Amino acid sequence: MDPPRPQCGPRGRPPRSGREHPLNADPLVQLRLLDVQVLDSRLDQLAHRRRTVPQAAEVERLHTERRELETATVAAETEASDLAREQRKADADVEQVRSRKARDEKRLQSGQVGSPKELESLQHEIESLTKRQSDLEDVELEIMERLESATARHAELQARRSALDTTIAETEQARDQAYSEIDAEAEQARKERADAAGGITAELLAAYEKSRTQRGGVGAAPLRQRRCEGCRMELDASYLAKIAAAPPEQVMRCEECGRILIRTLDANA
Ligand SMILES: [Zn+2]
Repeated sequence: MDPPRPQCGPRGRPPRSGREHPLNADPLVQLRLLDVQVLDSRLDQLAHRRRTVPQAAEVERLHTERRELETATVAAETEASDLAREQRKADADVEQVRSRKARDEKRLQSGQVGSPKELESLQHEIESLTKRQSDLEDVELEIMERLESATARHAELQARRSALDTTIAETEQARDQAYSEIDAEAEQARKERADAAGGITAELLAAYEKSRTQRGGVGAAPLRQRRCEGCRMELDASYLAKIAAAPPEQVMRCEECGRILIRTLDANA
């Protein structure tokens, strides 16, 4: 037995390559193509809505802010830790001068200092150590103030980072909620689309898909009140007459925009 012959074009001829050949479909099937079109347009809108969910852009912006805040927090932490080290050094410097001065004072009070020259030199050293201690204490105080402000700044940045994390989590949740609403609507539209496309021949669907891709998402449009609703143009009388004379199952195209034109009840009204 011979294998089944491949399906050919409408009148048993193979489809011509390149140019579109006349298609035939039951008028009711043609009308169903309009349902498919409505659902495809809805799916396009939903896809666009999903790409432009405002919360998603907000999440992006918040993450950028979070990265900047992180950099500032790390810088503040480093500054505070550097200042803490400087302060320990300043404390040690003050302590060193203080203990040397205490030792000198003890020696002075002990009355064991021999010559007046030695006494004078010791008093002179105590004087200069007093001055040195005062200068170092000024440095110590200044570092302490800077450390306090750096620590406060670090704490403030940490608090802001933590508040921002909460905002990010909330915004991500809102974004995901928006996504799941859109996805649920799209899921429903896809089911309806599958139902609507069910009885349409693969050939007509393929012609529609091609037209839709080439013409901004609208591949088939109704003819209503002498107007193609795909391009909104009113068709001229001779073309309308040609459409009216064509068999109802012949799939027509808009003369202006090339979309599949579906005849409705008020096509010529
Ligand atoms: Zn048109």
